[in-house]
Amino acid sequence: MRQLIAGNWKMNGLLADSLELASAVVKGAAALPCDVLVCPPATVLRAVAGKVAGTAVAVGGQDCHAKEKGAHTGDISAAMLKDAGASAVILGHSERRTDHGESSPEVRAKVVAAVACGLLPIVCVGETEAERLAGRQEDVVRAQVWDSLPDGFAGVIAYEPVWAIGTGRTPTEADVAAMHACIRAVLLERLGEGGRRLRILYGGSVKPANARTLLALPEVGGALVGGASLAAADFLAIAAAAAD
Ligand code: PEP
Repeated sequence: MRQLIAGNWKMNGLLADSLELASAVVKGAAALPCDVLVCPPATVLRAVAGKVAGTAVAVGGQDCHAKEKGAHTGDISAAMLKDAGASAVILGHSERRTDHGESSPEVRAKVVAAVACGLLPIVCVGETEAERLAGRQEDVVRAQVWDSLPDGFAGVIAYEPVWAIGTGRTPTEADVAAMHACIRAVLLERLGEGGRRLRILYGGSVKPANARTLLALPEVGGALVGGASLAAADFLAIAAAAAD
């Protein structure tokens, strides 16, 4: 399966910057050996989706509510994302789990809502530094995967060690490979054969300088890129390093 390189723009970008960034990504995306997704803030998602329509670049949201509609001030439903032009949504990012106290069962409910609207869910999991130092990383990630996925899940997992996000630090190659193997084993156990071909992205300080190495590791099905996705040249360089 082609690798997926997804850019998480987080809470960055007004309309003009976002359209400029999207145009620059589109310009370089045509000949890439991977699938490319950008996840802008909700306020500019429709405009970015319009800018990339008909190109090799897809657009995703960064979160959605588990409910279809109702009294949830400030929240956005999966149907709203879809209506604005999204084809995917990041769910359970560690910043959501930390800033908004999202639990894995809540993430699972969001996955169900996203799938019901035809969005590809990208479910994030990852241990904190304290959990890794205590040797608990595999137990933590295993529980997150198990509890965040509904039966029959057919989306994407992103392994993002919390301590590697935005810090410039990455796990060793052996640690990434070990965790991806662990996640694959959990997917098989949880989903049966359906878990064999799901893409497991790596995320956490992916840069042009380390992308080729990380993307070549066993069971790495692409990357979820934060900071480096805000510079088109860096994001495209990471995508160009994808294995085809
Ligand atoms: C992220 O937040 O999903 C992420 C991977 O961030 P960064 O690439 O900046 O570490």
